[in-house]
Amino acid sequence: MTAPITPRRIVIAGGGTAGWMTAAAIARTLGRVADVTLVESDAIGTIGVGESTIPPLVTYNRLLGINEAEFMRATQATFKLGISFENWKDVGETYFHSFGGTGQDHWSAGFQHFWMEGLQRGHDAPYGEYCLELKAAEAKAFAHLPDDRVNYAYQLDSSLYAKFLRAMAECDGVTRIEGRIAAVERDGESGDIARLRLDGDRAIEGDLFIDCTGFRALLIEGALHAGYDDWTHWLPCDSAIAIQTGSVRPPLPYTRVIAHEAGWQWRIPLQHRQGNGIVYSSRYMDKDAALQKLLGTIEGERLVEPNVIRFQTGARRKQWSHNCVAVGLSGGFTEPLESTSIHLIQRAVLRILRMLPAGPVSPRDVAEFNDQQMVDMEQIRDFLVLHYKVTNRRDTPFWRHCAAMAVPASLEQKIELFRDTGRVFRKNEELFAENSWVQVMMGQGITPSTHHPVAAKLTDDELAKFLGGLRESVARTVGALPPHADYVARYCGAATRTAA
Ligand code: FAD
Repeated sequence: MTAPITPRRIVIAGGGTAGWMTAAAIARTLGRVADVTLVESDAIGTIGVGESTIPPLVTYNRLLGINEAEFMRATQATFKLGISFENWKDVGETYFHSFGGTGQDHWSAGFQHFWMEGLQRGHDAPYGEYCLELKAAEAKAFAHLPDDRVNYAYQLDSSLYAKFLRAMAECDGVTRIEGRIAAVERDGESGDIARLRLDGDRAIEGDLFIDCTGFRALLIEGALHAGYDDWTHWLPCDSAIAIQTGSVRPPLPYTRVIAHEAGWQWRIPLQHRQGNGIVYSSRYMDKDAALQKLLGTIEGERLVEPNVIRFQTGARRKQWSHNCVAVGLSGGFTEPLESTSIHLIQRAVLRILRMLPAGPVSPRDVAEFNDQQMVDMEQIRDFLVLHYKVTNRRDTPFWRHCAAMAVPASLEQKIELFRDTGRVFRKNEELFAENSWVQVMMGQGITPSTHHPVAAKLTDDELAKFLGGLRESVARTVGALPPHADYVARYCGAATRTAA
C-alpha cells in the first residue's frame, strides 16, 4: 500500500503570462504532489503587452507537451527568426539579430574570425550572408526543417497565450479564484506568508506563494520588502505606450525595433493584427510627444485605445524570500528590447520546479535561486545596455547621454575584449550565445582590430571553398522555403481579422 501524500499547497497570486505559465508548468510537472490555486482579478487585468519571444519558449512548450500548431492557432502566433534593428547604429542604418548560428565555428574560434580573415583576402560578402535565419527573414520565408535546423521563436497574442495556458492548467487540476487580494498576512513567528486575504474576507492559505502580481509585487515587496536594484542609470527608458492595429500586409517572420530620438518603437506582426508600441525616456520625451510619434507611424485600423505603461528597469534583490518567489514583472524588468521577459518567467518556473522544497524551505535553495536569477538578469541587462552604449548616434540629448554613460564593468570587459580580439566568451549558461553578441556588437558599429590566427592557416583556395560552400548552402536552403505567411496559414492558420 502506498502512503497517502500531502500535496504542497502552492498559491499563485496573479494571472498574467507569468501566473499562467507558472500554474500550467507546476500542475503538469508535479501532478498530485501539488495542490495549486491561482488568484487573479479581472477588474485589475494584466499588463496587456509581451508578444515577442525567443527560441527557448519552443522548448518550454514542448516540455509541457503542448501541440505547436494548436498553440499557434489559439494565440494567433507567427514565427519569429530574429529582430531587425533600425536606426540603432546610426539613423538610416539597419542590422539584424537573428536566432541560431552564423557560418560554422571551429572549436578554437567562432565563425567571425574566419569571416574577418575572408574580408582581408577579398571575400566581402556581409556576415549575415552566412546565416540561414537571417536570410530566411529577409526573404520573408519560413518552414520547419529536419533536426530543428531553423531556430525560431513566436510572435503571439499574450492574452490568448494566458487563456490557452489557463485552459490547460485547469484541466490539470489548478483551482482558479477570481478576486482582489486586499492583504497579505504573515506568520508572526517565522515571518513567512501565511495567507492571502481577499475582498469579501475570503482567505487562501498556502505553503509556497508565487508572486505573479506584475509591477505591483504585492507579496515579494509589499509584504516581504525584498528590495529593488534600480538600473535606470544604464537602461534609461522608463515609459511605453502600446497600441494594436489591424494587419495591412502578410505578417513578417521577425520583430522590428526602430530607434528614435529618445528610445525606440516596436512592430510585432501576428496573424490577425500587429502589436505596436513606443518605448521612451520620460527625461527626454514627454507622453504627448511619444503618443504623437506612435500614432503618426502606425499603419492600419486602431483596434484599442493606447495603453500607457510606466516602468523602472531593475531587479528585485531577493527574488525568493521566505516562502515566496517572484516570477514575472514582480521580479524585475530589464525592458523589452530583446524580448527577454517571458524567457525570465520560464527560467524562474523551471528553477522553482528544480528546487521545490520537500519540507520547510531551505535557505540554501533560496540562496542558490537568488544567485542564479540575478546572474541571468545581469547578463541580459549587459546585453541590452550594449545597444544603447555602442552607437554612432549623437544626434539628440538622449543618445549623447547614452554614449557618455558609464556601463557595468562586466559589459566593458566584453566590449573591449571583442574590440581587441573579436572574441566573446559565454559564462554561466548565459542566454545570449557568442553569435548574438557578435551580431549586435558588429551591428552597433564595433570592428575588431584583430582576429584569431587559426583562420590564417587556411589557404586561399580552402578559405574560398569554405566561405563559398556556406553561402551556397544557406542560399539553397532559403530558396526552397515557402513564404512565411503561406506556411503559417497552412500549418496553424487561425481565423484572422483583416483591416477594414
Ligand atoms: P501582469 O500581466 O501585470 O499580471 C499581473 C497579474 O496580477 C494580473 O492577473 C492581475 O490581475 C493580478 N493582480 C495584481 N494585483 C492584484 C490584486 N490585488 N489582486 C488580485 N490579482 C492581482 N516580454 C516579452 O517577453 N516580450 C515582449 O515583447 C515584451 N514586451 C513588453 C513591452 C512592454 C512595454 C512591457 C512593459 C513589458 C513587455 N514584456 C515583454 C514583459 C511582459 O509583458 C511580461 O513579462 C509578461 O506579460 C508577464 O507579466 P506578469 O504576468 O508578470 O504581470
